[in-house]
Amino acid sequence: MKFKQTLILFGLALFFICCAENPFTGKKTMALVPNSQLFPTAFAQYDQFLNENKVVKGTKDAAMIKRVGQRIAVAAERWLNANGHQGYLNDYKWEYTLVEDKTVNAWCMPGGKIVFYTGILPIAKSETGVAAIMGHEVAHALANHGQQRMSAAYLQQGIAVAGNVAIKDEKSRNAFNQYYGIGSQVGVMLPFSRAHEEEADKIGLYLMAIAGYNPDEAAELWKRMKANSGGKAPPEILSTHPSNDSRIANLRALAPQAKAEAKKFGVTSFRE
Ligand SMILES: [Zn+2]
Repeated sequence: MKFKQTLILFGLALFFICCAENPFTGKKTMALVPNSQLFPTAFAQYDQFLNENKVVKGTKDAAMIKRVGQRIAVAAERWLNANGHQGYLNDYKWEYTLVEDKTVNAWCMPGGKIVFYTGILPIAKSETGVAAIMGHEVAHALANHGQQRMSAAYLQQGIAVAGNVAIKDEKSRNAFNQYYGIGSQVGVMLPFSRAHEEEADKIGLYLMAIAGYNPDEAAELWKRMKANSGGKAPPEILSTHPSNDSRIANLRALAPQAKAEAKKFGVTSFRE
């Protein structure tokens, strides 16, 4: 019992010592692994994934993924700068890659490394549908949700995190792999918590609107996602992003707020 209490106190102490602030919500979040260590590890995993998979280059779709990604990243930077968070993106290295794969999935690793599978494009249906997915994935990266899951894993597994955390250490690396997979397993991630999903939906909606994409389309996208899950194989993305009616209703309810936010940046008309 005493041991357990000590452990809880230790955890709480770490929480207050090593926390970061989510600029979008103002909430303090757990950040036991510094981004300066987490990001390079994620970048290396991303490169390994690209080496082992078929990257689509020089097509209209590949160009579209890059264009949407860049617009969403610019929107994020504008929002952060306007809200007093200059320099927040300094360690981020955005990259938007389309991979030839029938799986219905898209993901973003810490630090802004994004992958879209060609299998998700028919459900995205349009550039605006891609923007809805992109906004959501970028939001997970911006809100450091990966960082928080890593930190939680460190605590759960009792990995020594006080002082210098070296992700090169084998135990730490295993915790990282558990959350981000390795090689072909990258992208097969554990689900985000419901709270993280709601945060990413809201931030993503703002970002797509500021980037000039109609936020009304996000609810439509998840409706298509849900309809698609009725078939034989549910989309991979739904195992990490369950699509339910409350999520769709929530997105619909938040769309006017996203439009109001975009107006602050001079965006009053949207691409469909
Ligand atoms: Zn998500």
